[in-house]
Amino acid sequence: MDFYVDENVLIPRNDTEVLVEEVIRICKEEGNKDILELCVGSGAIAISLAKYLKDVNILGVDISEGAIEIAKRNAKNLLEYENIKFIQSDMFENVDGKFDVIVSNPPYIKSKVIENYSLEFEPKLALDGGEDGLEFYSIIINEAYKYLEKEGIIAIEIGFDQKEEVESLIRNSGKYKSHYAIKDLGGNDRVIVIYGR
Ligand code: GLN
Repeated sequence: MDFYVDENVLIPRNDTEVLVEEVIRICKEEGNKDILELCVGSGAIAISLAKYLKDVNILGVDISEGAIEIAKRNAKNLLEYENIKFIQSDMFENVDGKFDVIVSNPPYIKSKVIENYSLEFEPKLALDGGEDGLEFYSIIINEAYKYLEKEGIIAIEIGFDQKEEVESLIRNSGKYKSHYAIKDLGGNDRVIVIYGR
């Protein structure tokens, strides 16, 4: 799919296909219908899910109004059906209701590491995961259970070296039943799927 991007959003990466494909697989298997995506950026994840799952309702949110405009533009260009909605929200701030699936590729690069990135075409906002890179995983893991249907799932992209740290956030929260990790095509840990209670 051809996504329009500009300096308001992260340029989609191949690694994220692993996340999208796993969510498609789970939704087909479990018949999941209501999906929330946090930190949509260009909308690449939400729009791919809408295209390949069809029979779902997707809400996508992002803190950046500029990103929301681009996600809407991509949905209009790429989707036949209007089964997707985008709203501005700082994580769960403006989100209501419960979802079968919460998916996110949040900013996860450590602030110090970003200093070495050449950020000519992408906003720092889309990459900066705070000092430890875990800021948004912490919000997701500590809040998402309130927005999950019974036995709903959370699927998140992670940095290649963040599996252990994210797994301890999950365990320490005490809010989830189980989780597993998946590697990307380069052999790096890239996705964690978490099962709610
Ligand atoms: N994988 C991206 C990169 O290394 C980062 C994506 C993100 O922070 N969500 O450039």
